Amino acid sequence: MKENVRGKIVVMGAGESGIGAAVLAKKKGWEVWVSDASEIKPKYLQELAVNNIPFEAGRHTEKKFFEADCIVKSPGIPGEIALLTEAKKLGVELISEIEFGYRYCSAPVIAVTGSNGKTTTTQLIYHLLIHGGYNACMAGNVGDSFAKAVLEKAPEVFVLEVSSFQLDDIHTFNPHIGILLNISPDHLDRYQYNFDLYAEAKWKLTQNMGKADTLVYNADDLFLTKKLGTVSLPFQKLAFGEEKRSRDAWIEGSALVGTAFQIDFSSLQLLGIHNQLNCLAAILTTIRWGMNPKDIEMSLQDFKPVVHRLETLESYKGIAFINDSKATNVESVKYALQAMEKPIVWIVGGVDKGNDYQILQDLVRDKVKSMVILGSGEEKLKEAFPFLSAHPSQSMQQAIEQALTIAQHGDVILLSPACASFDLFENYEDRGNQFKKAVRDLVRKI
Ligand code: ADP
Repeated sequence: MKENVRGKIVVMGAGESGIGAAVLAKKKGWEVWVSDASEIKPKYLQELAVNNIPFEAGRHTEKKFFEADCIVKSPGIPGEIALLTEAKKLGVELISEIEFGYRYCSAPVIAVTGSNGKTTTTQLIYHLLIHGGYNACMAGNVGDSFAKAVLEKAPEVFVLEVSSFQLDDIHTFNPHIGILLNISPDHLDRYQYNFDLYAEAKWKLTQNMGKADTLVYNADDLFLTKKLGTVSLPFQKLAFGEEKRSRDAWIEGSALVGTAFQIDFSSLQLLGIHNQLNCLAAILTTIRWGMNPKDIEMSLQDFKPVVHRLETLESYKGIAFINDSKATNVESVKYALQAMEKPIVWIVGGVDKGNDYQILQDLVRDKVKSMVILGSGEEKLKEAFPFLSAHPSQSMQQAIEQALTIAQHGDVILLSPACASFDLFENYEDRGNQFKKAVRDLVRKI
């Protein structure tokens, strides 16, 4: 599809990315139809109306899909549903919103993917570039849709957070700098419970990268090192990891170190080794982009943790509270537990995405006093950690009350659920906000 080729396009899913794609398509002269199987939020209905885009809600009319030239599928919708398989058989092109946006994008793209740390690293890179005086635009899973940003902004570089679901349906998407942070089991329910399928989807980030492009990658990650060791690849590589070995950036003592820099991390506002790794990825990326390590060091110090990611709240009677509501898988909880220096009362649980708690065994034994189980997942958690006392709860209020009966002065109450939130909350933000509100209410009572 070139700029001058247009036809009928169906946008499936009317959320942030779908609406962005629909508006871009309309402005570029496509005949657009938006289809969402559920209700469409009022703010998106308004955007459809303003742009005069026809749509349906509560159903998918097959005919529209089968007659289209192209379908832009929102990342939340699985690719294997019958309607899409049938449309593909009929020759309809199926792409993701980042692919569609990319086809109209004239600025270079820096794209971040991985199982954990995408939002933090995307924001870090954006923060460093902006403070370095570059006209950067941040889009993708973090905030505005890429397609809409392509239409409305003309930056010198886009910094994108991309998920494996967005990468599933790319064809020409080609980041100038791609960042692969780590690949650990997550969303396996969408990949037939097959880790390799999920990992390959992330690896697709590199599929169109050529000689002028660079992959910044985590050299401690087994899947990535295996991949990079077995195939001859056209793009340049920059490796980061916990130890020096043959990395371009690593952690040494209390510093982030690379051939062109040494940055003491005592002044960072981010907690945990995982965030030091995220910083290394951001430093390598911005150095490759052309920034000066001294400027990077200065700006790193001002970067605050992203909300709901190991966010330190106010204390109550000597008990610390940390909101890590975004920790929706086991790997991110591992880093959260590692980062804690006080005995932990752990609030965990919710909708399990195929979790294997094995890797947490030793850490939990060492650091956790007790667990408060919030929502579903009780049986599996009790089975995984039979040595811990477990306190079921069905609301955030109840979870905090339970946690307070156990926590003592000097302990930390950590919300790091390892699970999705849809059983009791709207989403992880709602879960984190309820936690923060409950803590605020407590502190006010003193
Ligand atoms: P994502 O956008 O990939 O979900 P976030 O930056 O939103 O990543 O962080 C999600 C969770 O993962 C948080 O609990 C955070 O503390 C944790 N986390 C952040 N970076 C990493 C990393 N590099 N490895 C493991 N966990 C991480």
